[in-house]
Amino acid sequence: MIATGFSFAGATISGQLILSTPVFAAADLSESAAGSFWISILGVVGFLFVYAAFMRRLRRRAVKPPETVPPKAGTFSSVELERYSRHIMLREIGGEGQRKLKHARVAVVGAGGLGSPALLYLAAAGIGMIRVIDDDRVELSNLQRQIIHTDSTVGQNKAESAARAIRFLNPHVVTEPIEGRLDSAHAEMLDDIDIVLDGSDNFATRLLVNRICIEKNISLVSGAISQWEGQVTVVDPGREAPCMECLFPVQPSADLVPSCAEAGVMGALPGIVGSMMATEAIKVLTSAGSPLHGSLLIYDALWGETRVVKYGQRPDCSVCSGKRARLSS
Ligand SMILES: [Zn+2]
Repeated sequence: MIATGFSFAGATISGQLILSTPVFAAADLSESAAGSFWISILGVVGFLFVYAAFMRRLRRRAVKPPETVPPKAGTFSSVELERYSRHIMLREIGGEGQRKLKHARVAVVGAGGLGSPALLYLAAAGIGMIRVIDDDRVELSNLQRQIIHTDSTVGQNKAESAARAIRFLNPHVVTEPIEGRLDSAHAEMLDDIDIVLDGSDNFATRLLVNRICIEKNISLVSGAISQWEGQVTVVDPGREAPCMECLFPVQPSADLVPSCAEAGVMGALPGIVGSMMATEAIKVLTSAGSPLHGSLLIYDALWGETRVVKYGQRPDCSVCSGKRARLSS
């Protein structure tokens, strides 16, 4: 009735009442002391909890990737020769092909499901410079398939997170992470690039990347996935090969091509399709084999089937036919 004492204010009030009412002094004092005791305990527990969380965060940040070793033009160190020896012994790549990879400048649009394996394999292959473009942040639901990111990079920008993983994998690769979205106003993001791998998650960006690549004369490897099925094709503006708009002259409506977030995707599928994209890029850069020019490779993971659909250049294509006319004039 006189003192509650479960707050600092209550403790002060009870202290004043103790002075004016000596009969209840002993009981009030013990209640007040008990209140202060529990407040102190809660304070200590709270402090320890915050301190432990802070230390966990500090420890995570303390694991830094190694510094990039700038590649020396033209020559391979003994460490690089050993690292790339299984490439160098391949007749289709050899020392000359590996040198082309070392001097290559590659951009990957989207460090998500397709970008993750593509980036890792490109970095492991010894690409000289890899530019990663993504404005998104790593979310917990990404980790089921976006294997370049880890639990400790949740919340980070994907381009930064991917560049960090690349430095851990191969310190001989120079990375240029760009936190931003590729749109028509920022086409300069693809300047000074030899080949682009597009792993973006929407059709509008895919066609935009195609248009920029044709305009800037950059080779393009384009990939897409949904649920259990994936597709890969290669566009080469320097050849008589069709482009993405020859393949898809009419952009399908958004509800016909739902994103992975809307339709779901089997986790290992982007691993397969993204690795195919890295393979096509390595083939283009080293002139090995026959890239998927004018061919759409479709992989159906549910039934374990692969088929290739040929497509040709449309004479009325608003993107590549005009470009070819300009090039030939
Ligand atoms: Zn075209």
